[in-house]
Amino acid sequence: GRRVVVAGAGMAGVQTAVALREQGWTGAIVLLGAEPHPPYDRPPLSKAVLLGKAEGAAFDVDFASLDIDLRLGVEATGLRPAERLLDTTAGPVAYDVLVVATGADPVTLPGTADVPGVYVLRTLDDAVRLRPVLAAGRDVVAVGAGWIGAEVATAAREAGCRVTVVEASGRPLAGALPAEVAAHMAGWYEQAGARLLTHAKVTSVAEGAVVLDDGSRLPADAVVVGVGARPATGWLAGSGVELAADGSVAADERLRTSVPDVWAVGDCASFPSARFGRRLLVHHWDNALQGPRTVAQNLVLGPEEGPVYDPVPYFWSEQFGRFVQYAGHHADADELLWRGDPEGASWSVCWLRSGVLRGLLAVGRPRDLAQGRRLIEQGTALDRTRAADPSVPLKAA
Ligand code: FAD
Repeated sequence: GRRVVVAGAGMAGVQTAVALREQGWTGAIVLLGAEPHPPYDRPPLSKAVLLGKAEGAAFDVDFASLDIDLRLGVEATGLRPAERLLDTTAGPVAYDVLVVATGADPVTLPGTADVPGVYVLRTLDDAVRLRPVLAAGRDVVAVGAGWIGAEVATAAREAGCRVTVVEASGRPLAGALPAEVAAHMAGWYEQAGARLLTHAKVTSVAEGAVVLDDGSRLPADAVVVGVGARPATGWLAGSGVELAADGSVAADERLRTSVPDVWAVGDCASFPSARFGRRLLVHHWDNALQGPRTVAQNLVLGPEEGPVYDPVPYFWSEQFGRFVQYAGHHADADELLWRGDPEGASWSVCWLRSGVLRGLLAVGRPRDLAQGRRLIEQGTALDRTRAADPSVPLKAA
């Protein structure tokens, strides 16, 4: 049978290999991962693993029994499509089908790469390095009040650290949520005993301190940079695989790349969404589960026979004792509808376009999320009166 090579052994790479076997792929499967560790899950890294409540988060997959040839510590370095060869640090690997699943790399602050005490949080090694610093309960500065920054601040407070979060924009989650929603999340930092500095930029980091653009210095035994991630696609330069402006592999509606028999999944790939009318780059766990299933089905069923990939993106975060979930994709122009009091313990926000639910944010309301996600999938109009009343389930009009 044909031989599939998967580059990258994170969530998306592992799920690709497993889904191929589940769908009945009989050819060889080679799974290459740059990291030395058995493949593991990332969400626990900023939660249980960071607090020492869990050692690791290895996937519960028996690769040998699935006849998946897992090769660790092997990095893809280039691609020669004409010869169907993947170049790696262990030499060239021949493929019939290649699935690119190399994920994303954290964005760092310029000039801080070699400064001691500066951390990012992407890998198990990152989490293991940071863990004793939190356990020592000292001064932690998190840079960026995004999803990772909020979770790091949560863990650091739980570990008894003094925590300051430095955010360049005027509010947390500025890239993801509008001001009128995110404003209510700013208070969570303070309630948890963390300080949130908005409109503040880090200009330099010297050992033991962070200097801000207003000249002030913050003591910092650890600086955790959480300012986003970029698709890990540099190794594809010159291969002919088309990249989008954000650095992601520009996949098509079935997650094929511009090069024949090369596919892309997870954090490294963007895809055109007919549902949302734009190309999406999704850096969330559920996308690294669903995309691989679509690719596996397409590979098993053959050209144009498999499903198109057009999911309702889903994401969760655990921050400051709250369970935050988001489904769908909203645009600035969409109408915002509150469901419950945002100063209370649990509430949701719906985004509508022409009465149809497009996105939903749920804080401590998992049932809203489940119902909302279905309604977004169906593309049906929402019953507004019910939607504004948190005591009744969300329903179609
Ligand atoms: P990755 O997980 O990045 O895996 C890619 C793998 O490929 C890596 O192991 C990397 O070492 C390897 N690799 C890279 N380049 C090469 C190469 N050239 N050759 C070979 N191997 C290579 N999402 C949620 O929905 N909810 C959460 O609560 C949540 N929490 C998170 C917490 C943290 C700390 C992080 C970092 C992410 C979190 N996410 C969360 C996001 C989620 O984990 C990612 O979307 C998911 O891991 C993406 O999977 P992936 O396989 O595409 O990429």
